[in-house]
Amino acid sequence: MDKKHPVKLADMKIDERPSFAASICCMDGRIQLPIIAFLKKKYGVDYVDIISEPGPIKYLNGNVNHAVVETIKKRVKISAEKHRAKVIAISGHFDCAGNPVDKRRQLAQIEGSVKLVESWGYGLQIIRLWVDHEWKVRVI
Ligand SMILES: [Zn+2]
Repeated sequence: MDKKHPVKLADMKIDERPSFAASICCMDGRIQLPIIAFLKKKYGVDYVDIISEPGPIKYLNGNVNHAVVETIKKRVKISAEKHRAKVIAISGHFDCAGNPVDKRRQLAQIEGSVKLVESWGYGLQIIRLWVDHEWKVRVI
């Protein structure tokens, strides 16, 4: 990046722009860096947009809180349309304070969340992640 001549994404040719992924994840600080590192390595992206809430999958599964779901949707839209994110990860994790249910329940919530995000029609690849008790990221 040339600091004297900063360039906005919108002014760059599409094939010269950095690449993005998006992560719908908990706000828990223990999971952010593992998820970012995983997505950068697996998908070769330059940046990861973090769309965090306390246990977002409990809201997305079944579309239960309109205000929370709408703010997540707004951020997915920016990531998809402005950053042209190539993949979106939806995750749950061990010891979630915002969504204190067991892994089996969280995996079901992730499935419901994937269905809802797919229905928004951004055409992004969606992957499911579980961050375990050692803060390792697993594809599920
Ligand atoms: Zn959490």
